[in-house]
Amino acid sequence: MTIKVRLAPSPTGNLHIGTARTAVFNWLFARHHHGKFVLRIEDTDVERSRPEFTENILQGLRWLGLNWDEGPFFQTQRLEIYKQAVQTLLDRGLAYRCYTTSEELDALREAQKARGEAPRYDNRHRNLTPEQEAAYKAEGRSFVIRFKIDDDREIVWNDLVRDKMVWRGSDLGGDMVIARAAADGIGQPLYNFAVVVDDIDMQITHVIRGEDHIANTAKQILLYEAFGAKIPEFAHTPLILNQEGRKLSKRDGVTSISDFKQMGFTAEALVNYMTLLGWSPPDSTQEIFTLQEAAQQFSFERVNKAGAKFDWAKLDWINSQYIHTMSVDKLIDLVIPYWEEAGYKLTGGREERSWLERLVTLIQPSLTRLVDAVAISKLFFTDTVEFSEEAATQLKQEGVATAIKGVIVALQNQQELNEASAQDIIKKVVKEQNFKKGLIMRSLRAALTGDMHGPDLIQSWLLLHQIGLDKLRLAKAIAEDN
Ligand code: GLU
Repeated sequence: MTIKVRLAPSPTGNLHIGTARTAVFNWLFARHHHGKFVLRIEDTDVERSRPEFTENILQGLRWLGLNWDEGPFFQTQRLEIYKQAVQTLLDRGLAYRCYTTSEELDALREAQKARGEAPRYDNRHRNLTPEQEAAYKAEGRSFVIRFKIDDDREIVWNDLVRDKMVWRGSDLGGDMVIARAAADGIGQPLYNFAVVVDDIDMQITHVIRGEDHIANTAKQILLYEAFGAKIPEFAHTPLILNQEGRKLSKRDGVTSISDFKQMGFTAEALVNYMTLLGWSPPDSTQEIFTLQEAAQQFSFERVNKAGAKFDWAKLDWINSQYIHTMSVDKLIDLVIPYWEEAGYKLTGGREERSWLERLVTLIQPSLTRLVDAVAISKLFFTDTVEFSEEAATQLKQEGVATAIKGVIVALQNQQELNEASAQDIIKKVVKEQNFKKGLIMRSLRAALTGDMHGPDLIQSWLLLHQIGLDKLRLAKAIAEDN
């Protein structure tokens, strides 16, 4: 049997971390079993679905490296199939037209509430006579299609994550609506129905999705039976929780995968972290791995039942591991968009690959998120720097101006500045002016970078020199008006 799984996002928002994590588990399971991963866009909710959300979902999955084998299929292109499926259930006497009005449903709910009962449809139109139907039609009532649910039914499945699950038909709220009416007859299918028709049609063997769908699964199993189809395996994965143990939401500053990208997480680190949200590899000390490595080891036996707490510190740590170990070439390409976003221009020598290599090598160990490159390298993308209070104080110390002048003079006689010649200049000034080396280093840092802390001084100096900014900054630092 070929394993076939699917991701079935609704394009009513950007690709959310929860959906992306579901995608990860589907992908890992499919790859582990050399199966197929299908992508299906559930866009039947025409009011809330938008093409830009579909685009965001596709882009996000591609960015994360979660490639699919079939699709994307769009439910709106399959409406004819659902209509036929509804007709099949009507023909088999397993579904019926229900003409109950929303006012009647409201009244029913109120009465149930007053009696302290859970709201449910009372199946009142299950056995209408043709005459009753005709009378409702004549009244101009519209209808929905309901699927019969037997209250006494016990629904049991062996969940791959949660083990034995037992539901009663009476827990499912009465006969369920599977489609609404349209002018030309059977119209919009509802989620629980379309999903089963599609999963049967697409020969899905394993349905892997968030545990918020458990009650849907009970209903869906009854639909599989009604169609005489093989019931797939189900795996309900734990929810992602915030630090307080509640379902992660926008309020936690976490929304979509594109937001994570903008915040400076790399795709590899994010997908690595998501893999650990609810799953752990057999060697649970292993925290850094590729999707392919995780796929080799993936099984639902190691997926937790309990919710997975989202941990920013851990995500940051994993991200920094990826950034610190990646090639400088790759890192250059990854940080450029963040610089561009910040308005930094790759001009005036900054477009030189050798300059970029030197800069990125310098900042690489200090980056946790790619976006950190913006603040850390600001001093290389502006002509002048603002002096911090500490730096200004440093520059006012006695003798500092003379020392810096000494550096400027030495620089004038210098053909090419490299690490050795920069060190020579410092030595020369130390010797000629009888200054402590530390004082000169601190003063140079203040003058060149405007700050007392930052990346390696000599390297920073060489970078500034390459784009012709070092002399300018030194002169500015000792000018009267700074
Ligand atoms: N469209 C549903 C959702 O986005 C799919 C759930 C499922 O996987 O069946 O929640």
